[in-house]
Amino acid sequence: MNAKILSLALAAACLPLSVPAAAADEFSECLARLRSEAPAKGVTAATFDTATAALQPDMAVIGFLDAQPEFVTPIWDYLAGLVDEERVADGRAMLAQWQAVLARVEAEYGVDPATVVAVWGVESNYGRNFGSRSLLTSLSTLSCFGRRQPYFRGEFFATMKIMQDEHMAPERLVGSWAGAFGHTQFMPSTYLRLAVDFDGDGRRDLVDSVPDALASTANYLRKSNWQPGQRWGFEVKLPAGLDTSGAGRRNKKPMSEWAARGLRQVDGSALPAGATPAGLLLPAGPQGPAFLVTRNFDAIYSYNAAESYALAIAHLSDRLRGGQPFATPWPTDDAGLSRAERRELQTLLIARGHDIGNPDGMIGARTREAIQAVQRELGLEADGRAGQKILTALRPSPHR
Ligand code: CA
Repeated sequence: MNAKILSLALAAACLPLSVPAAAADEFSECLARLRSEAPAKGVTAATFDTATAALQPDMAVIGFLDAQPEFVTPIWDYLAGLVDEERVADGRAMLAQWQAVLARVEAEYGVDPATVVAVWGVESNYGRNFGSRSLLTSLSTLSCFGRRQPYFRGEFFATMKIMQDEHMAPERLVGSWAGAFGHTQFMPSTYLRLAVDFDGDGRRDLVDSVPDALASTANYLRKSNWQPGQRWGFEVKLPAGLDTSGAGRRNKKPMSEWAARGLRQVDGSALPAGATPAGLLLPAGPQGPAFLVTRNFDAIYSYNAAESYALAIAHLSDRLRGGQPFATPWPTDDAGLSRAERRELQTLLIARGHDIGNPDGMIGARTREAIQAVQRELGLEADGRAGQKILTALRPSPHR
């Protein structure tokens, strides 16, 4: 799942590659070896043969696996795109639409509706973006080429088990280049361990059943030590001169100890009393927003093993509950763009004659190149970043 962030950044840069003959031979030999292992993994020879009959490797996924991001996204850009007004409004609509299901999910798994819907919103934009790569193609390629082959073989066999045991058609098993699929972007092995049938049709279906997907997300969080009724954490105000060497999500201390060190809630009120263990999270250093995070933040973190990602879900859940944007600004003079603003920037770039495709709000290589060209024309720092400064510079002046 973790790799999805990278794949979004690189999707525009990597095109499908043709398969050299040597790679095709290597792939056939690799599949023959995997076929002999299949029965021990619970996959019948018949299933294996059906799954692999017309399989061709897709070497583009190896490119994703090896790619180093040439452009590291600042956390304020990341959050501006993931938690924008559009996603908050869409999430509130989903809370209303799925209210009855979400209430039953909370009763059974102890995870509240806003948290479950926030995971859904960040993982697949509420079911609008599943990824479009065949899991069998991606995972067989990753099983036979590149780094981490043993891990991806486990996921490849898990995909075939889903076909075989859950009667899921392979055409429905599409997702990210790394194999995450469905509303909640579970890896196949995660699906086998933790997906649940919540709509009662006898099938665990994360692709076509929203109730199954929402309940499976809650089950995942519960199994990750979710504490019902506890907040993920909250923004705090640091006292002047605080020694922040003890910061870090894992470095938890009782809430009372943080209170004794002078931390307060961001509105100036006292921290909640008690011994709840919390870590001090400083995602952009001591000058940016600061947070005390509980074990429930760790449960969200486990979903994708990235603190920026966990913070996006946590913050979106607060916004869905009616909470406000962070009170402390990010330490930058050029804040990030919402998806609507990204589309507006792309439209303005197209109007200036830059061929960057449709304004889809995804900032890929071509958009960044166009931004760089315009930044040079305007005498700005040509870093190719889509921020407020370049958007403001390109907007028509209201006085003209
Ligand atoms: Ca079901």
